[in-house]
Amino acid sequence: MALPAGLTKRDLASALEEFAAAVGRQFVFTSDEHINTYRDEFGPLRGTPKDPVPSAAIAPGSVEEVQKVVRIANQYRVPLWVISCGKNWGYGGPAPRVTGSVVVDLKRMNRILEVNEQHAYALVEPGVSYFDLYRHIQERKLKLWIDGPVGGWGSVVANTVERGVGQSILGDFYNFQCGMEVVLPDGELMRTGMGAVPGSPTWQQYKWGFGPHVDGLFSHSNIGIVTKIGTWLAPEPPVFLSCQVSVPRFEDIVPLIDITRPLRQKNLLVNSAVFPPRLGRPQDPANLGGWYNKIGFYGEDKVVDLQWQHVQDAYAAIPGVEFKARRFTAPYDAGEMDAFGRTLAGIPGVGGYGYRGVFCSPILPFTGEAIWNMIHSFDRIYQEYGLRYFGEAIHIHQARALVAPATVPISLDDPKVNETAVALVRRLIVESTRQGWGVYRITTAFMDEAMAAFSFNNGALLRFHETLKDALDPNGILAPGKNGIWPSKHRGRQA
Ligand code: ADP
Repeated sequence: MALPAGLTKRDLASALEEFAAAVGRQFVFTSDEHINTYRDEFGPLRGTPKDPVPSAAIAPGSVEEVQKVVRIANQYRVPLWVISCGKNWGYGGPAPRVTGSVVVDLKRMNRILEVNEQHAYALVEPGVSYFDLYRHIQERKLKLWIDGPVGGWGSVVANTVERGVGQSILGDFYNFQCGMEVVLPDGELMRTGMGAVPGSPTWQQYKWGFGPHVDGLFSHSNIGIVTKIGTWLAPEPPVFLSCQVSVPRFEDIVPLIDITRPLRQKNLLVNSAVFPPRLGRPQDPANLGGWYNKIGFYGEDKVVDLQWQHVQDAYAAIPGVEFKARRFTAPYDAGEMDAFGRTLAGIPGVGGYGYRGVFCSPILPFTGEAIWNMIHSFDRIYQEYGLRYFGEAIHIHQARALVAPATVPISLDDPKVNETAVALVRRLIVESTRQGWGVYRITTAFMDEAMAAFSFNNGALLRFHETLKDALDPNGILAPGKNGIWPSKHRGRQA
């Protein structure tokens, strides 16, 4: 069994006994077979001694059990790694940052506590997937829409705190979060925003509460275990248009982005994602074809038609542009939509991109020039490693910046591919840092490099995070190293 640094076999065995007493012996997993399910199948360190292996996994069934687990971990100094559904593919999967961590698997905490149709929100536990929430709404015939990531098996809580993205009306998940309940590293239970007012009817309706707004401290974070989250939903639109704008030439990405920007800023587009046409295969920018933009229009009958007409007029400036649209009206039948339409309608699917890879996702200014520059500077680096730039999508979930994940292939069994991936991702992060981009999110293996880019004033931001980390988690038990934030006992020595 993989031991956490600084712990003896006997310490770990005693801790596991106490975890068993807290959550039930049947919810403590230590066999190799079980542990294998908590390793990262998309891990670029796979097959090397640095691949993080958990010592055990435990599955608490309630908030009280999570609190007990945290207190026991403090007593024995056991590092914990929290997952909700554990499907974080491309960003670390269910695996911890530090070998020997005990994975706290929150899948059993899967209650949908409230779905409010009048105010369009939901309050859910960590184990609730997008499939669960969608099914719950459909079964009750509630007139609400959700949005989700490519695979509906992901957790609403995890995708929200990790700032995942969807392609429908609520694509910037964290933006639509409202109110949290959090177990702090010492086992204390806290509610944020209006949830701190006992009996408040507006916990999921008003984000800011009173005093400093702290919810962000629990996003991309290792100072709390989120046990409930509020998420805003969208009222079912009476009409939905599923639209595609295709441009024929590779260089058309520049006007495509520049025309999209003002449309997005004016809310004439509320969502969009731009894709290269040959997903799933490495692309060669030198001889690629064009791009397509997925857009949905959601709303009142005449309004959506006018919006779509206006948007077509704007894109018509690109020679050879083509438009496609399908119109759907409520009540919706997911069976009538193709996969393209279903994603735009936020209907969870089983989609993946059909490859095994990790992402390096720079945050770019919303200009065609910035995208063009990124593609070519990244492609030059890919070529140094015998590959060509491979972009997954350009996410337009905000109106002022773009997130453009570059994909780097990895392999389950070929260490050469993974060695290349590690070196290439490191180089891409260096390039992103040099250009001032930073990255939006990254798989666990590269979190230190990604955080190092945020270095203003001798790393004041990271020093602030570390001050909070040490104050709230003095034993450094919660997800050490997550997002490059280490507790003092690891600092300088890292994993
Ligand atoms: P998903 O299954 O939705 O893809 P995971 O369950 O794999 O997501 O979680 C992804 C990451 O999100 C984890 O590595 C962890 O850092 C963070 N996370 C997940 N659940 C929680 C939670 N309840 N509280 C705090 N952080 C969480």
